[in-house]
Amino acid sequence: MEICAATGNAGKLKELRRILEAQGHTVKSQKELGITLEPDETGTTFEENALIKAKAICEASGLPTVADDSGLEVDALNGEPGVYTARYCGRHGDDEANNDKLLANLEGLPKEKRSAKFVSAVCLYLPDGRSLTTRGECPGWIGFERRGTNGFGYDPIFNVEQYDDRSYAQLTTQEKDAISHRGKALARLEEKLEGFLQDKLTK
Ligand code: IMP
Repeated sequence: MEICAATGNAGKLKELRRILEAQGHTVKSQKELGITLEPDETGTTFEENALIKAKAICEASGLPTVADDSGLEVDALNGEPGVYTARYCGRHGDDEANNDKLLANLEGLPKEKRSAKFVSAVCLYLPDGRSLTTRGECPGWIGFERRGTNGFGYDPIFNVEQYDDRSYAQLTTQEKDAISHRGKALARLEEKLEGFLQDKLTK
């Protein structure tokens, strides 16, 4: 299927493209389609925000559109920053400042009190107004310092026990996609896609 990827985040786009193309889809970014729209993320859940973004960009592109809304839920911070992950430091999308703030807020806590999970909701919105949303989660813990150079965002400080406590930024792309919140959400979307499209034909 030809899909528009609704994001202006270069790191996210790279992963959406990589995973969706491996599933056999063709991906066009909103930028490639000349769409500069950045919908306000006014929802209170990842699912609501994914739907807001996918709907707005689908209406502008006319193509089936996938949006991801994602973030970190840190246990010691009662689930924060959650849907505010991108704006944690007060500005939108300043990765370095976001990482610094999170490390500072957990300063002094031992590993067992640094547990967290990454969450991704992905929404596929079709030009006929129907949508399919799935969620993926990856458990982990917030490191004591940055490690690794791959990836984007909070990758250098999000560690996964499943891979010997390496950070997301120390994983290969294949390793990350196999267990990441986004990889899992998109795998679920793909599992449900055929039934969803079939359902559409019979209605
Ligand atoms: P959104 O654009 O509101 O979904 O913001 C997501 C936030 O979570 C941004 O700060 C991203 O950098 C961060 N984020 C989401 N997924 C990942 C990931 O796979 N690795 C690192 N940071 C991520």
